Amino acid sequence: MSKTIFEEIYIMLNEAKKLSTINPDKSYEISNEVYSMAKKNNLNAEEGYALVSKAFACRAKSEISKMLDYSYNAYEIFEYLQDMLGQIKSLNLIGIAYFYSSMYEESLKFLLKVKDMLDEFRDDFLLSCVLNNIGEVYRECAEYDKALEYYNSALDICVSNNYKINTASLFSNIGEIYFIENKFDKALKCYTKSYDILKVENDMVVLGEIENKLGKVHYMYNNYIKAKEYFFSALRRLDSINNKFYAIDVLENIAKMELEIDTEKYLFYYEKAIQYAEEINAKKKLSQMCKTVADYYEKIANFRVSLEYYKRYCRLNEEIMTSNLGNKLEVIKIELGYLKETDKLEKIRIINHRLEMEISNQKRELEYIKRSNEILEKKALEDELTNIPNRRYINYYLNNTWKESLLKNETIALFMIDIDNFKKYNDYWGHLKGDVCLIKVANCIKDIQIHKNIFGRYGGEEFIYSVKGITYDQALEVGNTIRKEVEKLSLDYMSNNKDMVITISVGGVIGKASFLNDISQMVKIADEELYKAKDMGRNITIVKNLLNETMMR
Ligand code: GH3
Ligand code: MG
Ligand code: MG
Repeated sequence: MSKTIFEEIYIMLNEAKKLSTINPDKSYEISNEVYSMAKKNNLNAEEGYALVSKAFACRAKSEISKMLDYSYNAYEIFEYLQDMLGQIKSLNLIGIAYFYSSMYEESLKFLLKVKDMLDEFRDDFLLSCVLNNIGEVYRECAEYDKALEYYNSALDICVSNNYKINTASLFSNIGEIYFIENKFDKALKCYTKSYDILKVENDMVVLGEIENKLGKVHYMYNNYIKAKEYFFSALRRLDSINNKFYAIDVLENIAKMELEIDTEKYLFYYEKAIQYAEEINAKKKLSQMCKTVADYYEKIANFRVSLEYYKRYCRLNEEIMTSNLGNKLEVIKIELGYLKETDKLEKIRIINHRLEMEISNQKRELEYIKRSNEILEKKALEDELTNIPNRRYINYYLNNTWKESLLKNETIALFMIDIDNFKKYNDYWGHLKGDVCLIKVANCIKDIQIHKNIFGRYGGEEFIYSVKGITYDQALEVGNTIRKEVEKLSLDYMSNNKDMVITISVGGVIGKASFLNDISQMVKIADEELYKAKDMGRNITIVKNLLNETMMR
């Protein structure tokens, strides 16, 4: 009877192991069933192995604090049973859980302990795994030489024992280091070796991963056809097993490739990657992608969409910080639960200290992120030098104004303002004083407040001022007021031995949205009027009246 239970348990555990990366939910379910069976039948070691199996499934599901909890629990059992193999396996998992929680020192402590234990308890397979894991920690800490050292010792063991999948993973990890160091020839060699092994083994996840990496190397070599082949093959594989985590990277790489070729496709793949990241709640990836897409939209002057992505990126950053703190607290809570009576006092003191450090560090960082997010959001809209709205915001505002005016049938007056002979001012006083002059002019015009107006820096020494719902005569008056107020600042300089003051030329236009194509048409007309004003000798306001013209139509 008991033999059949043993048999059943080991068959189930094997099944759970096989499923852990392909179907982690199912794997967890089976492990949990084993756990109940073992508990019911007082099979302590099997209870421990069921916990290890549950921890594996949680690793694949990215439920890291649960993974840590089960690993600690398993370790307690194996320690009590003096089961060395079980202890080694569970300590290795604890190390991995800390690694995933970005607690690298803690992770290394456990992994090195496992390595020491393996000096006594010889198991080449486990030794190769733990050496690889130590390499991973060093890689994450950007200590590439040390990482290579550990990877290579692991590789020696795997090659001599013919551990195929681990050999392939190690070639892939070593290739990754070469890739980071821009040694693409070496990276390609390693990836190819890994790929050749994996093709025979037919493991979909790792195959998808390695094809993605091969695509990246070929992309670096500007071999877009080959790169594309690998990327799409990786994507098909990962989609077939519904693995979104790695598919996101592949989609991003494809998108990057399309950037110079087909912008529609570029956005299509990014949007798909973003959708995947949302579905599996991969916040870090999501935030990075939002930033990339925001920058893209900014470049193509779609400021409204750019701003939306920018804000999303800022919000995600904040969320990530908060949940990092939450995870670490969760981890510490679990550690406290597994403390033994004997070392309680000393350990509690250490953990308490770590807790305080962690909280104050995170608080500081969160404050910093919040502050920089505010600056970022402001920066997205404001000109850095003059602190008035920038071109992005003006465009955004004017586009909205356009739609509103169309509905209300309101007039729009738009002025393009350019400082006269500003180059000469810079030549006379220097660039820094030129900057101060720009700030003074900006502040002066900003103070001319008219209901429903917008004023901002369009670039260089050019500004835009726009007012809604006024008549042509009023528009002319506004243009002249701005011009006179700037002149009154008496920002003097000398040119050709003559005393001069800073003046501006104003080119304006007034019309209604319903009779024009779009706001850029108004900007263009205002610009033409500005050049007329310059031609006529500067310090002049010219406003083109489109109201009469439009009324005649
Ligand atoms: P015009 O009357 O025809 O407009 O003559 P201008 O000298 O003002 O025009 P031009 O286009 O020849 O030169 C513009 C100058 O504005 C040159 C550039 O150095 C200066 N400028 C643009 N942006 C800044 C800035 O941010 N700070 C400073 N100090 N100068 C700037
Ligand atoms: Mg100019
Ligand atoms: Mg000028």
